[in-house]
Amino acid sequence: MSTVYEGVGVGRGMAVGPVVKVHPSPAVPVGAGGDPDAIEPAFAAVAATLTKRAEGATKTVADILKATAQMAQDPALRAEAVQRAGTGESPAEAVDRSVQRFVDMFQAAGGYLAERVTDLRSVRDRVVAELLGLPEPGVPVLSVPSIVIATDLAPADTAALDPQMVLAIVTSHGGPTGHTAIIAGQLGLPCVVRASGVMAVEEGTEVAVDAAAGTVVVDPSPELREEAAARARVQAQLAQDTLPGATSDGHEIALLANIGTPADATRAAATPAEGVGLFRTEVLFLDRATEPTLDEQATAYGAVLGAFGGDAPRKVVVRTLDAGADKPLPFVTQPGEENPALGVRGYRLARRNPELLRTQLEALAAAARSTGATPWVMAPMIATVAEAAAFAQTAREAGLTEPCKVGVMVEVPSAALRAADMLEHVDFVSIGTNDLAQYAMATDRLRGTLADLLDPFQPAVLDLVATTARAGAAAGKPVGVCGESASDPLMALVLTGLGITSLSMSIGAMPAVRHLLHHHTLEQCQAMAEAALGATSAAEAREAVRALADKEIVGSLAL
Ligand code: PEP
Ligand code: MG
Repeated sequence: MSTVYEGVGVGRGMAVGPVVKVHPSPAVPVGAGGDPDAIEPAFAAVAATLTKRAEGATKTVADILKATAQMAQDPALRAEAVQRAGTGESPAEAVDRSVQRFVDMFQAAGGYLAERVTDLRSVRDRVVAELLGLPEPGVPVLSVPSIVIATDLAPADTAALDPQMVLAIVTSHGGPTGHTAIIAGQLGLPCVVRASGVMAVEEGTEVAVDAAAGTVVVDPSPELREEAAARARVQAQLAQDTLPGATSDGHEIALLANIGTPADATRAAATPAEGVGLFRTEVLFLDRATEPTLDEQATAYGAVLGAFGGDAPRKVVVRTLDAGADKPLPFVTQPGEENPALGVRGYRLARRNPELLRTQLEALAAAARSTGATPWVMAPMIATVAEAAAFAQTAREAGLTEPCKVGVMVEVPSAALRAADMLEHVDFVSIGTNDLAQYAMATDRLRGTLADLLDPFQPAVLDLVATTARAGAAAGKPVGVCGESASDPLMALVLTGLGITSLSMSIGAMPAVRHLLHHHTLEQCQAMAEAALGATSAAEAREAVRALADKEIVGSLAL
């Protein structure tokens, strides 16, 4: 019998491969003890490991590794650590404090030096682990395609993973709509979160990760391996269908991609996605210690707009910075908020720092001019009509005028309830069901243990989506959905039936959604929406929809 770890699956993919583990940063013991003479060799060992790794790595990864190795060779840093250890601090503590002094110095200097603090912290973690005899911390450099297992991954770590070398991501903590899971989706990787106990799996062991079932199976049987291969064949076959999103009777519903970086844009542009429904710009900011300049931002936005330009330009919806809560940024967000999800995040950052928003909008306007594109732009976490009106005015003043479109996200229940008023000020709205469920159900989206409450099939969440869709229809303006719910093929039918005009999702999820839509009429989708709204629980709603869907296709997609 194989050992099976159960968690919460994100997406529907499946992968089989060897495990690599991401070890957490070591805790630093305080107080005396330990051999100060161990410090120099520990730095040297870390420098040697990183230099060796750089030899086999791609150029970008090699540059990062060499720069980090150089820091581990810095004589001033080593000397300070040795000197501190001589005054009674434990070697690990001496290293930690010395590095912290350099971090403070680099941050005060700003610019290029401030950008290097991540490397410094990485050196500290590695040297401390070496001194304590612990496994090397952080995301390892992969030499064969592998399944990455971690307690949790910082969004910046997840974004830095090489999608060519990662087959799937598994975490023992974190929630299904947390940003680690979302970035995994953007990379097109199957992901299982909250797989409790999974860190016990030995490095190098073969496992099968099934996102649809939410399982991690150790030493999978030949039958399970064959199932993974068969599912990959079905996916490959579905991917042959490149028609635009529409029901079987021709009701169009645009299928758009969720992206976070220019590299995601290049990947998505190579698929039949009809554009981008959510460009999460904060991903570009995540590994930065200082705010990117207007020019840097304009270049990044231009790269994304350019990828969807050409003879038949495709729509790109850019979301302004959504930092805060689980996406803290050192130069923007306030540490230590008691309830960060209810605090200064998303559009609220503009209260304290209006220039940040203005610079971003001006950078997007510059990118629009230089590429000839006409982006759509929207703000996250809008709670009041006044915020929607103010955002629209700021965006237009920054140069994002017609034919560019200005909109807001509906992810706070107040925005859904007042969508009709919002739409008097903006050209479109896009529903973020991840946060809408979090705030409607008073349930932290990072807490996988409460995942049942976050189910977008919850009738109360569906009511808010339906209210917003009705407001859009009355105003004759687009209402998209860009939360993870759009990736669920059955939910995609419900959203279509509710009158949603576009669905934005990770590119890996799109073929199954497209396939199911092509096999149901608008009338069937409307009947499913009605059935879901008439249910009194999420489970009942999903069952009611499944009962009305084409049995054969539901079976073939294992929905
Ligand atoms: C959402 O909340 O549904 C959304 C799309 O935004 P994010 O997941 O980035 O918070
Ligand atoms: Mg959100």
